[in-house]
Amino acid sequence: MNPAIAAAIGQLRAQSSDGVCAYVYDLASLQAHARWMKSCLPQGYELYYAAKANAEAPVLQTLAPWMDGFEAASGGELRWLHEQQPGRPLLFGGPGKLDSELAQAVSLPDCTVHVESLGELQRLARIAASASRTVQVFLRMNITVPGIRDTRLMMGGKPTPFGLDEDALPQAVQCLRENPRLRLEGFHFHLMSHQRDVAMQLELVQAYVRTVVLWRERYGLDVRTVNAGGGFGIDYADHANSFDWQAFCEGLRELSLPERHGLRIRFEPGRFVSVACGYYVMEVIDIKRSYGEHFAVARGGTHHFRTPAAQSHDHPFHVLRGDGAPTLLQEKVTLVGQLCTPKDVLARGQAVEALAVGDCLVFPLAGAYAWNISHQNFLMHPPPRMVFLEPGAVPPTMPASHEVALTA
Ligand SMILES: *Cc1c(COP(=O)(O)O)cnc(C)c1O
Repeated sequence: MNPAIAAAIGQLRAQSSDGVCAYVYDLASLQAHARWMKSCLPQGYELYYAAKANAEAPVLQTLAPWMDGFEAASGGELRWLHEQQPGRPLLFGGPGKLDSELAQAVSLPDCTVHVESLGELQRLARIAASASRTVQVFLRMNITVPGIRDTRLMMGGKPTPFGLDEDALPQAVQCLRENPRLRLEGFHFHLMSHQRDVAMQLELVQAYVRTVVLWRERYGLDVRTVNAGGGFGIDYADHANSFDWQAFCEGLRELSLPERHGLRIRFEPGRFVSVACGYYVMEVIDIKRSYGEHFAVARGGTHHFRTPAAQSHDHPFHVLRGDGAPTLLQEKVTLVGQLCTPKDVLARGQAVEALAVGDCLVFPLAGAYAWNISHQNFLMHPPPRMVFLEPGAVPPTMPASHEVALTA
């Protein structure tokens, strides 16, 4: 395990009489990852961060130098991003935008609205006109891409609340023509999540560009940008098998799409950016046996870390041994939290070398869709500690006993 994380957990352990329960974020690795993602992308491509994955202020601050902007999926996120990252370009997407949220977006100078329906386009037109402000608009389109398999991960090409069907486009174009306060800048597509297939993703990007080039001609539009969404997938069981960003970027380079079509192409990933920087840490409170199976009950649970429940998977983990003599040796154990529900399971029937009360269970890949998707108030347990390890705070060789500068 990352020595900086182990050192931070060592310090948390020393500070806690009631068992460690914390999120620890490695901002140095987040910074390195974001820098790498940006450096792989060819000319003509932009990178936005979908803040709904994890909008903690230090995460946004660490990402800011490597991102072209941020994507918000609600008025709340939009306000937060504007406060945290003033002056940065913002994108505002998602279904069910309120009039007040659209007005908020219209009032921000650097906010682009991703319109999800004809009704929303009409409301936005009215709001922009009454505010006497011009607003940059992308139409989110729900298209079918021939030859792309319909998988569980597919969010487009079938009935969804997201985006406009292609047959609504003539009406949308008409509405844009009648409302000069709306400036159509581009089209937005986000058809897949958990995508791990580079070849398929390259096909999708090409299909989006082909489609936009066609629409541009058919409707006489001056559209310069394609937002090709996020959804780059993580393999939680085998992180090395996650989406191959580098191969994808090399594939993009060969396609020369921006050069050939006079377009900018934008991505807005969330999970792939921040997932690896976060660790959820639970100290084992109790080890018990029930009908022949072992359970480790640890401090915290799915009310802090809903990811295993949301993904219906056994989350990977490390054991950070404490001083206690092991209760379990070479056994299988189910890792649970403190909630009075049988669903509070983080991993089932997992082999461990050794485990004792007082050991810490460390769940990696907890930096996206983790704390912020959890039902925190259920059972009124206190929240986890939030620890952000600043880049440069911990030399990689530091021994586990060393004091670490923690910002909690
Ligand atoms: C959630 C979302 C994203 C980010 O998805 P990831 O799977 O986290 O990359 C990007 N765009 C839209 C429209 C989204 O709803």
